[in-house]
Amino acid sequence: MTDPLRFASEELRRLEEASLLRTVHALDSAQEPEVTLDGRRVLLLASNNYLGLAADPRVVDAAAEAARRWGAGAGSARLISGGVRLHDEIESRLATFKGTESALLFSSGYLANLGTISALLGRGDAIFSDALNHASIIDGARLSGASISVYPHRDVAALAAMLRASGADRRLVVSDAVFSMDGDLAPLAELVAVCEEHGAILMVDEAHATGVVGPGGRGAIAAAGLTGRVPVVMGTLSKALGAAGGFIAGSSDLIALLRNRARSFIFDTAPPAPVTAAALAALDVIEREPWRGERARSLASRLASGLRDAGFPTPEPVAAIVPVHAGEPDAALAMSRALLDQDVLVPAIRPPSVAPRTSRLRATVMATHTEEQVDRAVRAFAVSCVAV
Ligand code: PMP
Repeated sequence: MTDPLRFASEELRRLEEASLLRTVHALDSAQEPEVTLDGRRVLLLASNNYLGLAADPRVVDAAAEAARRWGAGAGSARLISGGVRLHDEIESRLATFKGTESALLFSSGYLANLGTISALLGRGDAIFSDALNHASIIDGARLSGASISVYPHRDVAALAAMLRASGADRRLVVSDAVFSMDGDLAPLAELVAVCEEHGAILMVDEAHATGVVGPGGRGAIAAAGLTGRVPVVMGTLSKALGAAGGFIAGSSDLIALLRNRARSFIFDTAPPAPVTAAALAALDVIEREPWRGERARSLASRLASGLRDAGFPTPEPVAAIVPVHAGEPDAALAMSRALLDQDVLVPAIRPPSVAPRTSRLRATVMATHTEEQVDRAVRAFAVSCVAV
């Protein structure tokens, strides 16, 4: 009998040959500036724990206390057995944080995008999506059954032409605020203007902006003075907030509709109380310590300018993400391995996460890195990598 799963080993071999095979590092410590990997101390420039809150004692204590009070798991979806008060509390805190009437919590940012886009749009509707949007947006758009038009990255003129040509009644324009693999910023003011002109719904994913960008870490929409002008605001608690969970912030009607229609909310077990408590504690810290977002941004800027001085063409970051161009997947992998030999962990980002020939290293900083650590990373790049 032939093995019906034989294609798996064949596919894995093809991935390895193309330098596209992915493997997982097992760390023996928390997501901190330095981690333990295979018994070595390694400088971590790979985490989205941008503010260094994932292992902050205040955040960890809140999680531990919540586990003792509410238990480890949520037991079921909130619509079935009810949620814990912490869920309502974080929703109202997030609505205030983002300047909207209401908010809805999901188990992850991925599920927030998936469930929201597929709840708001269906067959006969039209979605307009930036070419570099995150996979969870792409998957939500596909799941919706609406027609999908991909506009060139940050190209609002091309988007406007597509909107003019579209006959669909219900139209959604969706964009990352800070793009996850390029670290650049969406043209939010222009997106708001074009959506208002054409009566399209605008959805902005603030996964990499929340906590890092804008006044008090409120995000890129707030930074651009556009609070209240983006009808569907998405964010995640898994990055700067150091916990897990995603959310949508918007009008009370939008949130009530999602509670009734977003399948990734309705049919998914609620986020565990300890995780939600951790995110609440992280929000407290962000409010009290606004320097964290500023510091993450200034360390990213230090890293980028150090890399530029070392000959790596690196754009000026707007948040905590610093991409370093490598080109082909094998080049990215070789750079990442050479850096790890120098005890610096920077992941190689390859297709399908990015377009062919745009493989890169994606370095991310945390507010808790030191200047010395950032400079050490620059030296490791200079010693072990060739600029492309
Ligand atoms: N949106 C963007 C832009 C992201 O980068 C990510 C995470 N990589 C997500 C959504 C998904 O968020 P989460 O990790 O909380 O599922």
